[in-house]
Amino acid sequence: MTRICENCQFENQDDYDFCAKCGNPLVEGLKPKQLYVYKPQQLQINKKALVAAYALTIFLSWSGFVAGIISKHTNLAVFTFFGFFMPFYLVQSRHPTLRKHGIILMVISLVGVALSFYVMLH
Ligand SMILES: [Zn+2]
Repeated sequence: MTRICENCQFENQDDYDFCAKCGNPLVEGLKPKQLYVYKPQQLQINKKALVAAYALTIFLSWSGFVAGIISKHTNLAVFTFFGFFMPFYLVQSRHPTLRKHGIILMVISLVGVALSFYVMLH
């Protein structure tokens, strides 16, 4: 048995509740099917904030290295640990792009901190 659509006379399979052709309900009491287009909410990334995050992370994690090059007697490398703050915050973000930047910043700060300690200890 088929269900004939009242609207367009299309023959639908009998287990269909809605017309396959026009979406008209084939069973009384059902509302016409609506098409939902799933659109994930796009979180706007503040570019200026991102640039600031990069600048801050590079400054914090690489300052020990720069200071160590200029002056042999510095323990500023300890201070470079603050450079982990921003990437650590970003990698916990729900936004995939921010997480990606967080990972990049994590690498930048890791290298910076490693270099800072290298020049401090040598
Ligand atoms: Zn129909």
